[in-house]
Amino acid sequence: MADITLNNVTKRFGEGGDAILAVDDVSLEIEDGEFVVFVGPSGSGKSTLMRIVAGLETQSEGDVYIGDTLVNELGPRARDIAMVFQNYALYPNMTVEGNMSFGLKMSTELSDSEIETQVTETAEMMGIGDLLDSKPGELSGGQQQRVALGRAIVRDPNVFLMDEPLSNLDAKLRTTMRTEINRLQNDLGVTTLYVTHDQTEAMTMGDRLVVLDHGELQQVGTPVECFYRPVNQFVAGFIGSPS
Ligand code: ADP
Ligand code: MG
Repeated sequence: MADITLNNVTKRFGEGGDAILAVDDVSLEIEDGEFVVFVGPSGSGKSTLMRIVAGLETQSEGDVYIGDTLVNELGPRARDIAMVFQNYALYPNMTVEGNMSFGLKMSTELSDSEIETQVTETAEMMGIGDLLDSKPGELSGGQQQRVALGRAIVRDPNVFLMDEPLSNLDAKLRTTMRTEINRLQNDLGVTTLYVTHDQTEAMTMGDRLVVLDHGELQQVGTPVECFYRPVNQFVAGFIGSPS
């Protein structure tokens, strides 16, 4: 478990006058166990911020702490973070069991039987316990998404990052998965940063919202605060017009 602190984090792509300011001086504290939704239009810097927290991208300026540890110099593996992306590429030739155990086999000292136990328990929790011998191609979209989530959770990370994990699913399944992700996060109590451009998703899922536009933090607050007390025109317009 861990809280996360961003101090004056800025990210530029490119040099000089042509540089793109993807993240503009963002400071933020996320509490241990909190579910925070980063929301904003396309290009507002959501994914870049996630990648910075994950250690997949290095900020141009500013500090990132996970717990009390300054992680600026730490690579992704050392940060003990699990990520789920929109294009959750499962290994097509491996079974569900293989997909879920692969990362564990690479990164832990656990014995094969300990890994098997952990994978089985997680799969059962995710409702895919009977699919362990199937290949991804044999699964529905929702089942594949559960495997992707299970593969991330099985590592028992400190922090969970999800970047538009549901955008490839149809509307009905998206609604179901929102509830499932919320319930799962609640059960695990793991600090979760969740990215979406979908206002409905943000309003229904987050303990707090971080509203971004053009890389700048616009408002941080509960969904109710952002909806009823937007701090500016942008937040009012964006949150007030669900897609
Ligand atoms: P979002 O996830 O909110 O859609 P991004 O973080 O992907 O936004 O992008 C923020 C801005 O940074 C955009 O203008 C995007 O074009 C730019 N950007 C993102 N990644 C790169 C990159 N690797 N190289 C150059 N520009 C990038
Ligand atoms: Mg993005």
